[in-house]
Amino acid sequence: MFRINAEVWDMNGLTVTRPDGSVYDLVLAGLRINGREYSNIDDPDTYRALADSAQIALENHDFGTYQRAHPLLAGASFVKCNSYMDHFSLREDCQNCGCLGFTARSSSIPKLR
Ligand SMILES: [Zn+2]
Repeated sequence: MFRINAEVWDMNGLTVTRPDGSVYDLVLAGLRINGREYSNIDDPDTYRALADSAQIALENHDFGTYQRAHPLLAGASFVKCNSYMDHFSLREDCQNCGCLGFTARSSSIPKLR
């Protein structure tokens, strides 16, 4: 159940359904981590830089750095490409993401901010 006024909307995960049947995705606009506000990552270059930094941190067992990056990546407007799972040699031929290594979070329904 989700309310923004007197109407009661059904909520399933991050999808809400109004009584008239229209469906919306809730979109993460920002995060508060350890008392600091972070806006949602919606710039592809920023996402790629942070994703690469997190991967390097993980490969070097720098779990503190990885843990700081992970919530920002999880809330970003992009997701890692599922076709190759960040294997560099496969990324160069990936048709799914156009060799970027990530795609926009997909949704076919309107977003609610
Ligand atoms: Zn891909």
